Amino acid sequence: YAALNAQANQVAHYLQKQGVKPEVIVGLCVPRSPAMIVGLLGILKAGGAYVPLDPTYPPARLQLVLADAQVSVLVTQPQLLETLPDHPAELVCLDEEWFATVDACPDVDAPSDDVRAAVTPEHLAYVIYTSGSTGRPKGVAMPHRALTNLLCWQQESAIAPASRTLQFTSLSFDVSFQEIFATLTAGGTLVLVSDRDRRDPFVLSNVLCEKAIERLFLPFSALQSLAEVIDSTGVVPSHLREAITAGEPLRISPAIARWFERMPQARLVNHYGPTESHVVTSFLLDASVSAWSSSPPIGTPIANSRVQILDRQLQPVPIGVAGELHIGGICLARGYLDRPDLTAERFIADPFEPDARLYRTGDLARYLPDGTIECLGRIDHQVKIRGFRIEPGEIEAVLGRHDRVRQCAVVVREDTPGDRRLVAYGVADSVVESRSLKLHLQQHLPNYMVPSAIVLLDSLPLTPSGKIDRKSLPAPQIQQDKTAIAPPKNHLECQLIRIWESALNVRPIGIEDNFFDLGGHSLLAVKILTAMDREAGVNLSINQLFEQPTIASISEAIAQQTLPDPAPCIVPLKPGNPEKPLFLIHAIGSSILFYEPLVARLQTDRVIYGIQSVFLKDPNSSVNTVTDLAECYVRQIEAVCPQGSLAIGGASFGGLVAYEVARQLAQRGRAIDALILFDRAVPGSCQPASVTRRYQRHFQKLVKQGPSYLLAKVKHRLTSESSRVRADFAKAQNALLKDLKQPGQKYLGEDIVNRQTQMGDAYIPSHYSGRVSLIRAAETQDDGRVYDEDLGWSKYARGGVRIQTNPGKHMSIFTLPHVETLATHVDAILQVELVRPELVQADRDRSHSAS
Ligand code: AMP
Repeated sequence: YAALNAQANQVAHYLQKQGVKPEVIVGLCVPRSPAMIVGLLGILKAGGAYVPLDPTYPPARLQLVLADAQVSVLVTQPQLLETLPDHPAELVCLDEEWFATVDACPDVDAPSDDVRAAVTPEHLAYVIYTSGSTGRPKGVAMPHRALTNLLCWQQESAIAPASRTLQFTSLSFDVSFQEIFATLTAGGTLVLVSDRDRRDPFVLSNVLCEKAIERLFLPFSALQSLAEVIDSTGVVPSHLREAITAGEPLRISPAIARWFERMPQARLVNHYGPTESHVVTSFLLDASVSAWSSSPPIGTPIANSRVQILDRQLQPVPIGVAGELHIGGICLARGYLDRPDLTAERFIADPFEPDARLYRTGDLARYLPDGTIECLGRIDHQVKIRGFRIEPGEIEAVLGRHDRVRQCAVVVREDTPGDRRLVAYGVADSVVESRSLKLHLQQHLPNYMVPSAIVLLDSLPLTPSGKIDRKSLPAPQIQQDKTAIAPPKNHLECQLIRIWESALNVRPIGIEDNFFDLGGHSLLAVKILTAMDREAGVNLSINQLFEQPTIASISEAIAQQTLPDPAPCIVPLKPGNPEKPLFLIHAIGSSILFYEPLVARLQTDRVIYGIQSVFLKDPNSSVNTVTDLAECYVRQIEAVCPQGSLAIGGASFGGLVAYEVARQLAQRGRAIDALILFDRAVPGSCQPASVTRRYQRHFQKLVKQGPSYLLAKVKHRLTSESSRVRADFAKAQNALLKDLKQPGQKYLGEDIVNRQTQMGDAYIPSHYSGRVSLIRAAETQDDGRVYDEDLGWSKYARGGVRIQTNPGKHMSIFTLPHVETLATHVDAILQVELVRPELVQADRDRSHSAS
């Protein structure tokens, strides 16, 4: 905070020297970075108001805003200078060099101490531009008073005001003010995320976990994408306490309900408010997710704000009757910058309170019997697409400026349920391609305002009264020339085509067709990516789909292995029948090297894979339970082997993971031919030996080993359990490495061993529907504990436990000479389970009654 304050003060002092003071509007065009926050604070500390200029918007759009707001000073960064349009504003290029110069050069006179500015609550804090129905965006001028009120209310009502909050929203939207200032004024932590990462819900869900995000502001559509991702990965952001959604109607989808059911500590809050007032009402959805309405209300007004639901005569409507929602109170913006006509049209005199104003929202709403307000939709043509407020009239005006377009209309369509998108219709004077019309729109509008399809017609349908009949506009057809469809070249491409055809609702699709030309957009991308991952094991990020938007390029990238490996932990150990794989899971030492002597001796014709620890690839992985670890391996197993039956084995710690993997796979309906646990007990299933037995044992050893036994015992007491485990495994592993003549292989780090030891100790198995084949080491561990014959597994394995004993110790069963017997045991298990199902059943029945 001290560093942030000092830098913001320097910027503020400097800006004041450039003439920034109350009512001066300063442009802010800086990419997501700490410099963006410093710039924002600097402008406000200088007493000025900021107008955000999103660097991703086309230059023509930025120019329009710079001119409209009469920006005289622009805070930016050197790398953006080339893309900025021509403008007369004074530039302040905030980068390290700027601060270095300011620090080094006393002439610049930008000290880091606090700044004085003559700002009052009535002065302007920001101007945010929103879409304008007449074809020109309009700047909403917001004074400090409204925003201070919002922050004070937020401080009182927030579940965790000083929380770790994600800065998700672009500065061009008012919610960003709330994210940034509600957090900083409460002493919380603001977590910045790159534009690339925030666009991809898969990455975003990881960010939430890795950065331990506690508070999140999201429009509903982004919340829904995130919920779908969490549904598919099963990884819940466990630190989240408060998710605030705003900007569009909230719908409680099954995925959102499942997500919040798994996070009882978190609350979902629905905020309502247009840019002209920021937040006006709020509704808290409590912990009883099952009782949530599928369309929750927008709640009740926040502090010092008023809502009036009025009919056309500006009379209040009764409870339950729909009227236009009007907003009054401190929260109101001053109006639209330099647009007195427009301001007078929307900000009217309050018929109930002298000298007060009401903002006509254009939203249809009604009071529910419990006093909360329900939003019912728009009265006008304004739409929301993925949280963005859009006036189709503005897009029509830009399209109409193209010299070939004679007439046009822009509408929102939902031809596929849940897929709302903008479609433009045009009648052209002479031949023009829709691609060139799209380019024209891209040059003038932010991306979210560019329709996903442009349909050229001979004429637009009209109503009997001569207006454009928007309801009769035809659904856009993807014109696919069937002879030009590039056919698939391999099995993967066939799979991907099937997935794309079903998600995009376009048929047929060729491998060279571009995702975006087929009508794809970011929400459909999430759907397709989840399906590609689940059904074909192709794990792609949204950004990669943007870079490789055809099936051919995806399949090529996989062939050249430039895409991430969907199964990074799985290593092929022996070729064989791919329909019946055997997966062997690592032990505490994380590597799978010790299985090699066994694998070399197995007669089975199955393909054999080893699963090495996820921590070997990613020591910082957030996985911290056996269940999560198993879930991670299940995903990878499904990627390698999406269908059919399989066998799983695991030694020691790996036995626990193997059990959990088999359990989860069985729960998903996969057939498990065999589950082999190599000398692993259920955690906590043993009992300490009786005192007499323990003394007897000590005495026998003392006689056998002499005083060195006593010394070893003392040392043992002084070392921690985990370091003992580590040492045991290091010994076993080193012996193996020596056997295998592979010196130089490293044993993995102590912290990972400790972590896996703790995960193993904490694991409580749930029931598994199949059978456990347990291979016990004949020389039991000399740890003074008493183990049941079945090592505790009968209680959990519904299909019983088949026990065999192998000569050797816990890990030496995998080395010569004991591994010879071990291989015959494993082959016998695989053989019996595979070839003689009737024996399995008989055996199962016997084991059942025995256990
Ligand atoms: P914006 O100016 O971008 O914040 O958009 C304001 C408009 O979004 C409102 O007039 C509503 O139509 C819609 N809106 C905002 N929040 C909600 C909400 N929680 N539920 C329903 N509609 C909303």
